[in-house]
Amino acid sequence: MTRLFPVFADQLSHELASLARADKHDDVVLMMEVRAEATAPRHHKKKIAFLFSAMRHFAAELSGAGWRVDYVRLDDPENTQDFAGEIARARARHQAREVIATWPGEYRIAVLLRDLGVSLVEDTRFLATRADFAAWAAERKHWRMEFFYRGLRARHGVLMRGDMPEGGKWNFDHENRKRLPNEIVIPPPYAEAPDALTEEVLALVARHFPDHFGQLRPFSYAVTRAGAQAALRQFIDQRLAQFGDYQDAMRQGEPWLFHSHISLYLNCGLLLASQCITAAEAAFRAGRVALNAAEGFIRQILGWREYVRGVYWLKMPGYADENALSAMRPLPEFYWTGATDMNCLRQAVLETRANAYAHHIQRLMVLGNFALLAAIAPQAVNEWYLLVYADAYEWVELPNVTGMALFADGGVLASKPYAASGAYINRMSDYCQHCRYNVAEKLGPHACPFNALYWHFLDRNRDRLKGNPRLGVIYQSLDKMPEAQRKATTAAAETFLDTL
Ligand SMILES: Cc1cc2nc3c(=O)[nH]c(=O)nc-3n(C[C@H](O)[C@H](O)[C@H](O)COP(=O)(O)OP(=O)(O)OC[C@H]3O[C@@H](n4cnc5c(N)ncnc54)[C@H](O)[C@@H]3O)c2cc1C
Ligand code: SF4
Repeated sequence: MTRLFPVFADQLSHELASLARADKHDDVVLMMEVRAEATAPRHHKKKIAFLFSAMRHFAAELSGAGWRVDYVRLDDPENTQDFAGEIARARARHQAREVIATWPGEYRIAVLLRDLGVSLVEDTRFLATRADFAAWAAERKHWRMEFFYRGLRARHGVLMRGDMPEGGKWNFDHENRKRLPNEIVIPPPYAEAPDALTEEVLALVARHFPDHFGQLRPFSYAVTRAGAQAALRQFIDQRLAQFGDYQDAMRQGEPWLFHSHISLYLNCGLLLASQCITAAEAAFRAGRVALNAAEGFIRQILGWREYVRGVYWLKMPGYADENALSAMRPLPEFYWTGATDMNCLRQAVLETRANAYAHHIQRLMVLGNFALLAAIAPQAVNEWYLLVYADAYEWVELPNVTGMALFADGGVLASKPYAASGAYINRMSDYCQHCRYNVAEKLGPHACPFNALYWHFLDRNRDRLKGNPRLGVIYQSLDKMPEAQRKATTAAAETFLDTL
């Protein structure tokens, strides 16, 4: 009797654990394009197009390899437009005695699948299981990424020399905070022209989701495993050598810089984490990139990516409701339109709208920093991040937003809030040179709003944050601020916040 193997949009890997249990001749792989998932929340047009096209290409690859694939298209008139309805229909269609899936990327879906009686198998594409993280966390008061990462490096023998880290140190981050030199040449990102299948999907998305956020075209993302591997190779050959140095830099009109732009491929399964780590380590061993570059990149994938997944599954479902700093303000309209005089925010929003991508420092120190300082409600911020980025799935988005950007978990993930004044943005970018505000001014109509917001944030959250040892020096500075200046700063911040 047939068994049914649903494969979701973020499971487009031939190595998927559930498929390893399937019989390609007797069992059926079920793939579903459903409106409920594309619209809750209303995802970026480019993200929907990327995933539907990657799904259709993956289904064709599976069929080509001899699998029986049942693919439900969005515009199939019988489509019930949600997973529960489609799994029920497929069960009946194939008289399936059992439904088996790989562990999904969202708590809500895991609950749904269990309620539907679907058997779930662990997702083996990660280098740490959920149980590994839970066991590690159970032994510690503070869950710092750095120590989890070191354990995984040693366990998987990544960048190791015997028992010791390569180069005698685990982390080379202090070498990785350089400003971009003016004359530096930034290689263009990997780009592919859409094939006929992708063109069909682009037309479908334009027809069905015209009011969603974001620009659909131009569309140049890879949509197959071969394309994603070519994008990874291009990164290793052309940008990895400078990845570490300029990881924190930002530049006007340059959304891609020396980042890898592979998160959308990794998170949907076209690339595997182990493959990216191996490629970066090989480039280092071959003498093509320095250790700080290879280590910096590997830490993002083996460290941060695995760690946030562990935090997500251990802390859900409560994690989605965390609001340790009692932030309540609605999301300002400019997060959708980019219509703000604050140039750094305008750049980050417009690039997000165009590409369904922004690099880490834009996400953390511009968009996230503003949301933190302006006390935007975490649920609204999370919804925005989940829908605007092509790489966003709740397991990776929620800890990054709630934990890293907003400190809304009270310090589970980050040892201190990533709060910064305009000086940080000015140090790491040229945005301030193109802004109507003056980053050097603290008060007055031309003062950069980040400056007053920063001190207002610290003052407002004094009771919650003052005991944090990493903020001691900053609170000493705040305490030394003359009373009149403190009052003027508070008034300036509150006046600004009232305009949002
Ligand atoms: C507020 C906020 C929200 C974020 N939301 C997402 C999200 O929805 N999906 C997502 O994949 N990443 C998210 N990140 C992490 C990071 O910003 C992106 O992974 C990265 O910008 C993707 O671009 P890239 O592939 O060019 O990454 P690179 O800078 O080239 O880094 C290499 C890879 O490391 C991994 N990585 C790096 N940082 C992280 C991190 N903090 N958490 C998990 N993986 C990481 C990614 O897989 C990435 O592709 C978020 C970060 C912040 C601060
Ligand atoms: S001056 Fe302030 S608002 Fe303008 S770009 Fe710089 S940091 Fe952003």
